[in-house]
Amino acid sequence: MSVTLAMGGGGKETEEFVQRFILPLFKYKSLGSVGLEDMEDGAAIPIGDNKYLVISIDDYTVNPPFFPGGDIGKLAASGSLNDVAVMGAEPKALFDGIVVEEGFKLSDLKKIISSMAEILNSMGVALLGGDTKVMPKGSIDKIVISTVGVGIAEGPLLTLDRARPGDKIIITGPVGDHGAVILALQFGLQVKTLQSDVRPIWPAVKALKEALGEDLRAAKDPTRGGLAMALNELAERSKTTVYLDESKVPMRPQVKEYADMLGVEPLALASEGQAMFVVSPDRVEEALEALRKAGFEEAAEIGEVRKGKPGYVIARTPVGGLRLLEKPSGELVPRIC
Ligand code: MG
Repeated sequence: MSVTLAMGGGGKETEEFVQRFILPLFKYKSLGSVGLEDMEDGAAIPIGDNKYLVISIDDYTVNPPFFPGGDIGKLAASGSLNDVAVMGAEPKALFDGIVVEEGFKLSDLKKIISSMAEILNSMGVALLGGDTKVMPKGSIDKIVISTVGVGIAEGPLLTLDRARPGDKIIITGPVGDHGAVILALQFGLQVKTLQSDVRPIWPAVKALKEALGEDLRAAKDPTRGGLAMALNELAERSKTTVYLDESKVPMRPQVKEYADMLGVEPLALASEGQAMFVVSPDRVEEALEALRKAGFEEAAEIGEVRKGKPGYVIARTPVGGLRLLEKPSGELVPRIC
C-alpha cells in the first residue's frame, strides 16, 4: 500500500488518513481548548478570560502556481489567515516556509512573495518568520509554500459543534470559483470569464461578530471538498441533520458549466474567498445586512440545521427532489490549493 493523491484531497480519504496514521500516535493533542482531535480549521490556546490564541497551518501546492485571480502566494497568505478567521480570531501574524525548485524564475518568485506581502500589508498582519529551501531541479514540481496563521479570538470560538437545531446557514457569496478555475486549467481549458475568488474573509467574520455577538455560532471556509464537505462536517460535529436548499446557493453559471463538462459535483468545488456561517434563526436578516455592508453583496441564506439523524446532509434540488449530499471522496482535483 502506498500514498494516494486522494489522501491529500481534503475529503473522506484525508480524514481517514489523519484518523488512522496521525491521531493514534500522539499522546498530547490539545492545550485546554480546541486541538488536533477536534479537526477544526485551527487550534486554540486560552490566554485569558474568553480570549484565545488561534493557530493554523496549511501547505500550498497549487498547480498551476499562477492562475486568473491570484497565485500561490496570495493563496498561501489568505488561506491560513482565513482558517484563523473562521475560528473567530482576528489574524495577527503569519509564518511562511517556501520550498522552491532550482531554476524557478526569480521574477516569478518575486511576484509570489509580493502577493503574500500585499495580503498581509492590507490586513495589518505581520510576517513574523519564515524559511526558504531550494531543491534540485526535477525533485519538486516548481514550488510548495507552507504558512502558519496566528490570530487572537475574543469571545467564543466559532467551532461547528456550537450549531443547534433551528439555526440558519449563510454563505458570503458564489461558491466554487477557485476550484472551477484550477480544474479547468488542469484540463487545458481556456479560462477567460472566471477568476479564483481567493481573498481574506476576516472582514466578513468581523462584520458578523460585531452585528450578532453570541448569535453568530459557527463559521467555516468551504475550501477543499467545497460546500459539500463543509456542510457534512457541520452535520457531524453538531450531531444534527443539515438541510441545504440548492436553489438558494449562489453559483456562477461558468462554475456549473465547468463542473458539468468535467463530470464533478459543483458543490464539492473549493472556494478560497467565501465563508459559511451558522447563525441564530432570528438574526438572519441582520446577518445578511451586515455582510452586504461589509462588501459581501451576494450573501445568502442557504439552509438550516435540524434535529434528526446526526451527520447527514439533505439537499433539496432545484427541481424539488431531495438527495443525500455526501462527503466528497476520491481525488476530485489534485493540487487545488
Ligand atoms: Mg478551512
